[in-house]
Amino acid sequence: MNCPICRKATSWDGNPWRPFCSERCQLTDLGSWAMEEYRVPGPNLTMELPSENAEAVESPDDEWTGNHGKQSKG
Ligand SMILES: [Zn+2]
Repeated sequence: MNCPICRKATSWDGNPWRPFCSERCQLTDLGSWAMEEYRVPGPNLTMELPSENAEAVESPDDEWTGNHGKQSKG
């Protein structure tokens, strides 16, 4: 038995995605017709990139250098 999507040899025994080889191919088959139904005109196929802390700017709140007060000793 070959997967109808990727034509890869797959077994039916204990295969929850049969007749497909994997969940990916099963979703691909489902998506093939689903996309026809739910086809939306717009840039909806954007990949979400992991937001990183790429803020390489100096913080205005310099707590460590807050040495404005006068030191009156004596
Ligand atoms: Zn497959």
